Amino acid sequence: MHVAVKVIIAIFALGLIFLGFIFLIAGGSENLIVGAVMTLAGFGLFAFLYYDSRIMASQPKLVHQEVNVTMGGSGDFQEQKLNCPSCGAPVGQKDVTLMSGGLVLKCPYCGTTSVLEEEPKW
Ligand SMILES: [Zn+2]
Repeated sequence: MHVAVKVIIAIFALGLIFLGFIFLIAGGSENLIVGAVMTLAGFGLFAFLYYDSRIMASQPKLVHQEVNVTMGGSGDFQEQKLNCPSCGAPVGQKDVTLMSGGLVLKCPYCGTTSVLEEEPKW
């Protein structure tokens, strides 16, 4: 909920409690009922604001995840020099990104993007 909306609700609730007390002080059976209802409504609004902030705090926040891909596999993985298929320039690990399940190679020299094909290692 927006902070401004919360402030307005809080001011409204304070007004309700204040007016409710005036009705309670004024006395009379009708005034007492009106005063009690207004005071309770005011406190109810404060309770609503409190629970709303509690719910907001308990909700999971959007977490930005970064996936780091390292080209060194497990086991007897041979270190291979990656070269741009277009211009043949050496391409480092920082130029390889994981995109939609595949490894995408972007050449820093000519800007060519190419998908790395997984080759069986056996
Ligand atoms: Zn290139």
